[in-house]
Amino acid sequence: MAGGGQLARMTQQAAIGLGVSLRVLAGAPDESAAKVVSDVRVGDDRSLDDLVSFADGCDVVTFDHEHVPGPHIQKLEGSGVPCRPGSAALAHAQDKLVMRERLSELGVPCPAYAHVPPSAPLAFLEAFAGEHGWPVVLKATRGGYDGKGVWIIGDLGREARDLVQRMLSGGVDLMAERHVPFGRELAAVVARSPYGQGAAYPIVETVQEGGICTEVISPAPGLPGDVAAEAQRLALTIAAELGVVGLLAVELFETGDGLLVNELAMRPHNSGHWTIEGARTSQFEQHLRAVLDLPLGSTDPTAPVTVMANVLGGDDPDVYPRYIHVMAHDPGVKVHMYGKESRPGRKIGHVTVLGDDVADVRARARHAADYLRWGPEMKERT
Ligand code: ADP
Repeated sequence: MAGGGQLARMTQQAAIGLGVSLRVLAGAPDESAAKVVSDVRVGDDRSLDDLVSFADGCDVVTFDHEHVPGPHIQKLEGSGVPCRPGSAALAHAQDKLVMRERLSELGVPCPAYAHVPPSAPLAFLEAFAGEHGWPVVLKATRGGYDGKGVWIIGDLGREARDLVQRMLSGGVDLMAERHVPFGRELAAVVARSPYGQGAAYPIVETVQEGGICTEVISPAPGLPGDVAAEAQRLALTIAAELGVVGLLAVELFETGDGLLVNELAMRPHNSGHWTIEGARTSQFEQHLRAVLDLPLGSTDPTAPVTVMANVLGGDDPDVYPRYIHVMAHDPGVKVHMYGKESRPGRKIGHVTVLGDDVADVRARARHAADYLRWGPEMKERT
């Protein structure tokens, strides 16, 4: 797995169970996965040389993020290394404009969008807003994550003009999107194997704050069965049409007029962390099964409701002393920490709670995540 973040770290847990050996290409020996994987290569996953020596001896190469350059993946593929997902599929998770164009061709509903021409960006944005209204969502076509690279601009005042200017002069390619007045955000996580088998997890609700996912609720409360089935079908269709192998997470907006696709990720995804305890097969095991072309595992939930809450870094980076309260308060809380340096607002772990009642399970997960972040000060801070 190229990339040494928490996704690779949690994939290692699944690899242990399956008895398959995972090699990780990490940027530094203290990265999240590098701390728990014995076969670590330290290198730059944007360097072709490092990728080639990492891939030597691997049966399959897969990824814990989408930032490995497509041409490098093509070179690996050209030299006979199976890359799953392959470069052709991955291009759609690496470039939001490529993704929008392909999904539109397939007739998949997406927000109205357009490329911002670097030669006349302001006149273009004025015209785009004239057609779709303010605010307009501006996105870097490549390289964004956790809302970095997404800006909502309410007008073409000084701030927006400076932003556009700064991005374009830094070589960042921009696209504009209609600001969708969605009711909530959902995610469909599916897996597809080279054999062609597909499997879909229950549709979840993802709660975002400031561009960061803070909670995932499975199944999405109150989602009509036909809409959930449509979302699963949509994700499986996208996986098949794009030739995805491994996991595909489809981030969706639920609107009064139906579902719109926001984003694609072709790897284990934050909206699937709940599956470690909440489904018969975790997304990490499912990703390994899929990229190894093994039969896929059951996606059946293990409880009526599962809630995952991300643990963000607070002021005090030492989270461990807070375990005592969290674990004594609620023995049903499962804690997953990523071994990452804590910085305010950074995702450093998550908690999962299973149960029967959405409000109760959410409150328990929220309490644990907030306490791990803030300690006894949580009442004042949240
Ligand atoms: P990233 O790749 O950084 O995750 P996304 O494209 O998923 O970026 O956008 C991050 C968040 O910004 C979304 O989860 C959503 O809350 C908001 N957002 C993105 N696009 C739109 C849009 N067209 N309309 C309204 N909100 C949007």
